[in-house]
Amino acid sequence: MVRNSVAVIGAGPVGCLAAIGFARRGYEVSLYEARSECSFREESATKQRSINLALSVRGITALRVVGGDKDDHSKQACLVDEVLSEVVPMSARMIHTNTDVGVRLDRQEYSSQGESIYSFERAKLNWLLLNSAANYSNIEMYFQHTLMQVQPTSNESEVHLAFQVPGHADWASVFEQHMSQRESAQKFFQTNFPDAFQIMDQEELLQTLISRTPSSLGSVRCTPMHAGSLAVFLGDSAHAMVPFYGQGLNCGLEDVRVFFEEWDKATSEHHSMVQAKQIALPAYTAQRSQDVAAIQVLAQENYKEMRSKVVSRTHKLRKWVDTKLAQTLPANRWHSLYEMVTFSNMGYAKALETERRQQRILRNLGSAMGLGLLWTLSWGVYRISTEFAK
Ligand SMILES: Cc1cc2nc3c(=O)[nH]c(=O)nc-3n(C[C@H](O)[C@H](O)[C@H](O)COP(=O)(O)OP(=O)(O)OC[C@H]3O[C@@H](n4cnc5c(N)ncnc54)[C@H](O)[C@@H]3O)c2cc1C
Repeated sequence: MVRNSVAVIGAGPVGCLAAIGFARRGYEVSLYEARSECSFREESATKQRSINLALSVRGITALRVVGGDKDDHSKQACLVDEVLSEVVPMSARMIHTNTDVGVRLDRQEYSSQGESIYSFERAKLNWLLLNSAANYSNIEMYFQHTLMQVQPTSNESEVHLAFQVPGHADWASVFEQHMSQRESAQKFFQTNFPDAFQIMDQEELLQTLISRTPSSLGSVRCTPMHAGSLAVFLGDSAHAMVPFYGQGLNCGLEDVRVFFEEWDKATSEHHSMVQAKQIALPAYTAQRSQDVAAIQVLAQENYKEMRSKVVSRTHKLRKWVDTKLAQTLPANRWHSLYEMVTFSNMGYAKALETERRQQRILRNLGSAMGLGLLWTLSWGVYRISTEFAK
């Protein structure tokens, strides 16, 4: 490997953005990917994981900062605009509750300020980022290259990468359809989501449901998020998480932004690449570890919210209080947790800490109001009893 070259392993959205970041800084980038190029093409990729991704502020910020925006006047500079031109804004979630008189709909806004998250087809997003990376003449792509081993060399800042390169791609899948599955899926949607089922392409929905194989959900924890001065872990390789906060990708793209902040600081202060790596990589881990741990906790906790809390009275009351306080108090004094995570670039750890503080304030306020009520009641009872005693 020559001196100013970088190897990026994995051409998922995070790997593509990292490759673009290095290419824009003039490095020679080799992007290695286990899958074949054709598996990324939309028509074949949409047959794999189906669920759309929700992009939010921190993902969009990273795409803008690392990928460049239209003010850069360069050929590759409109990545974020390209992405935003294809998204579907989502401003609220619709809760469907089965009641004796049919399905009750309850619309819950995501933001007190009218902001939206943005839905994007997973395969399309990856394809768009891959194409954007392909526009850089200093990014070389190697498909069907699975990294198997990393071997140190006598030069402490270089490694040998060992790849497995198959003779041919094997992406064909055979899908079976089962009538009973089809009928129960149809009944499920008709009973629980009749409004959505009406406006969906029902045939495509049922086909999708019965033909896809469910995958398991897992988490990855990786500390530190770098290996000496040789490698850095970004995206799911460092912190795959359960998808209940819709932040896995947003967090991965933010990793890339934070990494390049540290990288730019180190390379501007140090002439030697080796020194810059020794400084930037641990600095990235130090910056990122707490935030990544926090979003993993939040993602786990949000499962309970998605599963049942969204219909609980306490949860709805808390949302109402959050909205009222955010609208009434001076700017930046009160934010709901969801807004801090989704509609800001505030560190996840700070968002979690702020939420815990806000919870304490509300608890104390609740206790004070309870005590106030108790005091008023006791005073009333005392007055009445003294009146009767006269
Ligand atoms: C059901 C579900 C819903 C989700 N919804 C959201 C959402 O709404 N919003 C959100 O922000 N996130 C969401 N996520 C999380 C999001 O999908 C991931 O965080 C994101 O795809 C991570 O991107 P990545 O580039 O790090 O990894 P990946 O997308 O997994 O890409 C990694 C790439 O590396 C390649 N690779 C792996 N190993 C090797 C190797 N040894 N050699 C070479 N190549 C290799 C793989 O083939 C792959 O192409 C969801 C996840 C799931 C499962």
